[in-house]
Amino acid sequence: MNATSTSTLAQRLQALRVRMDLAAQRAGRDPLSVQLLAVSKTFDADAIREAHALGLTHFAENKAQELREKAAQLADLGDIVWVMIGHLQTNKAKEVARVAHEIQSLDRWELAEALHKRLTLEGRTLRALVQVKTANEESKFGLAPERLHDFVARVQAECPTLQLQGLMTLADHTDDPAVVRGCFAQLARLREGLLGAGFASMTRLSMGMSGDFELAIAEGATDVRVGSALFGARDYA
Ligand SMILES: *Cc1c(COP(=O)(O)O)cnc(C)c1O
Repeated sequence: MNATSTSTLAQRLQALRVRMDLAAQRAGRDPLSVQLLAVSKTFDADAIREAHALGLTHFAENKAQELREKAAQLADLGDIVWVMIGHLQTNKAKEVARVAHEIQSLDRWELAEALHKRLTLEGRTLRALVQVKTANEESKFGLAPERLHDFVARVQAECPTLQLQGLMTLADHTDDPAVVRGCFAQLARLREGLLGAGFASMTRLSMGMSGDFELAIAEGATDVRVGSALFGARDYA
């Protein structure tokens, strides 16, 4: 048994907020400059209801269908902000365009095009972060850093339904904090490059998860995506 399985959601949320605030203070940052995105994938609607009752409003899913189903089950709550954080196939763009408020996994032109087409039909807009590949692992999705400027310029010019607000990344999955920090530092540098080039809306940095959010906050994360440290261990069975 670990602490996560015996404590309540309220206790875990409180402990998480303390760690986030301390990490911000250590970095000389305002704790209010870091948003908590609750990653609810694999957890059911009741768990999200409980988290919502504790004051959380931003929830993230990594599968389009799961996002759509939970949004329908929780429609009565009204103020939930649904965020897509998983790799999205273009044939699922329709579901995300219909129900999500934000996508953080925008990683290629075909997806931007598909989303823009569906959003136009729906008469909706979607906030978007560009997922960049900073990790060395083969399996991680994300746009190659050297293609970022052209991609952002093209999406801004051709997809007005997508409101670009910044960048997202997943660090290498390793115990070496220097490697993890290097991924986050790279994303922060890429943002500075975009801001310097006049892409003034690209202010957000979504980086850090349960295992590495303190390092991400030290490197300037504005959004941390936390699942298991909040909801407990995931059961994929
Ligand atoms: C699952 C997931 C997270 C949260 O992971 P935890 O380790 O449970 O905090 C964050 N970001 C993405 C893209 C994810 O898929």
